[in-house]
Amino acid sequence: MSETSALVLFSGGQDSTVCLSWALSRYARVETIGFKYGQRHSVELAQRDIIREKLAGLGAAGKHLGPDAVLDLPALQSISDTALTRETEITFAATGLPTTFVPGRNLLFLTYAAALAYRRGITTLVGGMCETDFSGYPDCRNETIQTLAQAISLGLATPVAIETPLMFIDKSATWELASKLGGNDLIDIIIEDTHTCYMGDRTNRHDWGYGCGICPACELRANGWTQWRAQKT
Ligand code: ZN
Repeated sequence: MSETSALVLFSGGQDSTVCLSWALSRYARVETIGFKYGQRHSVELAQRDIIREKLAGLGAAGKHLGPDAVLDLPALQSISDTALTRETEITFAATGLPTTFVPGRNLLFLTYAAALAYRRGITTLVGGMCETDFSGYPDCRNETIQTLAQAISLGLATPVAIETPLMFIDKSATWELASKLGGNDLIDIIIEDTHTCYMGDRTNRHDWGYGCGICPACELRANGWTQWRAQKT
């Protein structure tokens, strides 16, 4: 098992792109994993290859980028909005969670990633979970993630670490981290190529990138950008 390699959960969104860049700056070999589960914003999957190609071309760190895997998890779709009862949908709406939210999704993703990592001889997983903007997702909390790392380590009988570089920083600080890791080149990739919008909108271009500008994901991204730019001036 190599401690110089990592597997990054890479969706093609802003957060996971910053995490991938972070991993490239510190591990000799970095592989990526993505999940296809009928997500409405599946347009982000199409952006993955474009972003990977651009990051591979960014300086010496880009040379550390290894293979990608995309796992098909159609079962997730049957437990998302399509199969939710109306009562559950109302409860979800009341908590501010999108009805496409799959309960415990990160637990499933990390467990699948750990299984693939095991096969690939990798013992470090990297994910963009973030407690600061936690938006009501209990599976993004540090305690959840680190407890899962313990369960996975026990279940695989090998120590598995889950690194979450964005856990305690807000969206403004995520832009700043991107700037520190890859300067304007990385900021440009995030704006032009990463996708965060829940509605899958890639027609409306804002200063901070593409999106509907209204959904919770766009709102977070836009606010983070505005705050970060304000600190710069
Ligand atoms: Zn949006």
